[in-house]
Amino acid sequence: MYKPEEYRKHRLVVLGGGESGVGAAILGKEKGMDVFLSDMGKIAPHHLDTLRKEGIAYEEGQHSMDLILSADEVVKSPGIAPTLPVMQAITEKGIPVISEIEFGGRYTDAKMICITGSNGKTTTTLLTYHILKDAGVNVGLAGNVGRSLALQVAREHHDVYVIELSSFQLENMYEFKANIAVILNITPDHLDRYDYKMQNYINAKFRILNNLTPSDAFIFWQDDPVIQAQLRQIVTEAKLYPFARREENDTHAYVDDEDELVINTTETSLRMPRADLSLNGLHNLYNSMAAGLSACLMDVKKDDVRRALGNFEGVEHRLEYVSTINGVTYINDSKATNVNSCWYALESMTDNVVLILGGKDKGNDYDEIADLVDRKVKAIVCMGKDNTKLLEYFGGKVKEIYDTHSIDDAVETCARISKEGDTVLLSPCCASFDLFKSYEDRGRQFKDRVHALENK
Ligand code: ADP
Repeated sequence: MYKPEEYRKHRLVVLGGGESGVGAAILGKEKGMDVFLSDMGKIAPHHLDTLRKEGIAYEEGQHSMDLILSADEVVKSPGIAPTLPVMQAITEKGIPVISEIEFGGRYTDAKMICITGSNGKTTTTLLTYHILKDAGVNVGLAGNVGRSLALQVAREHHDVYVIELSSFQLENMYEFKANIAVILNITPDHLDRYDYKMQNYINAKFRILNNLTPSDAFIFWQDDPVIQAQLRQIVTEAKLYPFARREENDTHAYVDDEDELVINTTETSLRMPRADLSLNGLHNLYNSMAAGLSACLMDVKKDDVRRALGNFEGVEHRLEYVSTINGVTYINDSKATNVNSCWYALESMTDNVVLILGGKDKGNDYDEIADLVDRKVKAIVCMGKDNTKLLEYFGGKVKEIYDTHSIDDAVETCARISKEGDTVLLSPCCASFDLFKSYEDRGRQFKDRVHALENK
């Protein structure tokens, strides 16, 4: 008997008109679906242009529930919290909700290198991409950094994708399968999105292991107690490739007694002096290990891996060298929006650090960096709308502490109090929204003010 619904087109509703949403809408249309995109806010002009050119139905500034609840499937941008009324209505109706990566992944058989963690995702993703690209692999960059996976699947052809995955993206992934999954570390972050339950956040991160088979690889930091504890609770068929500072049980990447980086897979064994790595600091050693292991597992030649680990130029706002003025080195680590990333920044410094801290505090516990501050920091320059918590915590713990409320005042203070041989480090432990548009804005303003000092 004729059933009209069988002849109805698959209706795909995309929530969020950013990079990933527009990409998903285009792929949906290319696959012949009835696509509708809805964004509660304003859609950027270049994305609006694309939607119009592609003839994709959309709305902005509202969610028309009748148009949304008629969906067969919803692709949700990772920025949309599951607790919003629109999401609750969708869930109540039982409409499946997936991420753009899940959607894009359905239509490609490219190999997937997927990278998650609380810190280091972007650096490791870009470094892995750099190694593969430099070796001539036809590779695409997607996820949080890079362009939409769905758009690339619709319009380009790549043999491999390197994908940065946040826990938000992983939440709406089900059938998707990585070939190489990386978890760099897990420390508390974004707990407001997880009912303040760390286990929920850990579970979201571990979704990166979903559907892995014995021919896939799981690369992880062996010394992370959270990862280790979770590994004891779960079963994965993937082959394990742990990395650590020193060789332990079955460690596949480590530094040996001669200070050489060693990377071992079943197929290959690579060594290079640690000093030849272009990225400095212990955290970047780990990032280089994860990227190097991924590249070796993708059969990139050893010489190519070594060369690319040595010539990677680094990522803006992550321990980025800015300038040396009157013998004082200025470093922009504006992306350090939590205490843990500041810990790694300080760890990579010698002493005589003038540290710029402050901004929007996400419930920080400064005990984590107290010891490093004690050993390496000669002065703290607080830079935030309200510095009370910092002044109370570090007052008496460092020789000098200053209260500033603008980038101008902060950089001028640093220039005034620092001496030859010092390092001024912007690694603020906090989000930027009290004084800046974003961490990028904060980092750029910092660099501008520092460059202005050069000409004084
Ligand atoms: P993410 O994309 O996960 O936020 P980034 O690569 O942008 O990570 O780095 C963010 C900050 O975290 C940097 O400023 C750096 O100081 C710190 N960081 C980078 N890699 C690591 C790591 N492996 N472990 C801990 N901290 C790290």
